[in-house]
Amino acid sequence: MKNIVFLGPPGAGKGTQSAFIIRDYGVVQISTGDMLRAAVKAGTPLGKTAAEFMKEGKLVTDDIIIGLMNERLSEPDCKNGFILDGFPRTIAQATALDAMLSGSLKTELTHIISLEVPDEYIVDRISGRRVSPVSGKIYHVKYDPPAVEGMSEDGKTPLIQRDDDKEETVLKRLSVFHEQADALKGYYRPGGKLHIVDGTKSPEAVYGEIKGILK
Ligand code: ADP
Ligand code: AMP
Repeated sequence: MKNIVFLGPPGAGKGTQSAFIIRDYGVVQISTGDMLRAAVKAGTPLGKTAAEFMKEGKLVTDDIIIGLMNERLSEPDCKNGFILDGFPRTIAQATALDAMLSGSLKTELTHIISLEVPDEYIVDRISGRRVSPVSGKIYHVKYDPPAVEGMSEDGKTPLIQRDDDKEETVLKRLSVFHEQADALKGYYRPGGKLHIVDGTKSPEAVYGEIKGILK
């Protein structure tokens, strides 16, 4: 069974690689960013609070995120393995995750994959990111364009650009990432399950490396 954590900056390709892993390994993807965006769209109280942080590129508070993950990880579909994409992002979240896993869930992480992409790639990657509202697939205007320019798989529903994917928010998100990145890797290194992957290669080449790690 695979219980995977993806670390890496926004735009590193965590969502893109998760889609390959889901296809081949039958695990579920849990993206805190996607969960928060769904709450914002639904206009729930949690969504309203989260939106204030997200639009400025700041982290949503640990208590909100930990509460959300506690519920999500208790759902039965997580029993066959999961990928955590965008969580944990702080040491407090990482220790809370360990407590959830060793407590009622009685499982453990199998792989922590740090997808490493230098800052100079990130603005280009994120400003070109588009998402299909039809399938959820992630595209890029240059690196992975859709069959019909600007359109989802049905050829008529426009692809969506995330609100927080504009340049000034991206730079803030990157600096927030760097505040925690070394500490998180330091947290996971002693366990011997941390794998560093070069995320600058093509999506297929990156996935080849990840498959070698997951086996
Ligand atoms: P994350 O989930 O880490 O924020 P995404 O998977 O959404 O990142 O990828 C960000 C953008 O970069 C998307 O537009 C995606 O199509 C593109 N992308 C992902 N992996 C690569 C890659 N290896 N090379 C070039 N572009 C990529
Ligand atoms: P992402 O989709 O992972 O790029 O996340 C988008 C935004 O959601 C982030 O900029 C944060 O505001 C918020 N967010 C997502 N995951 C977390 C997390 N684990 N902790 C705090 N904030 C988060």
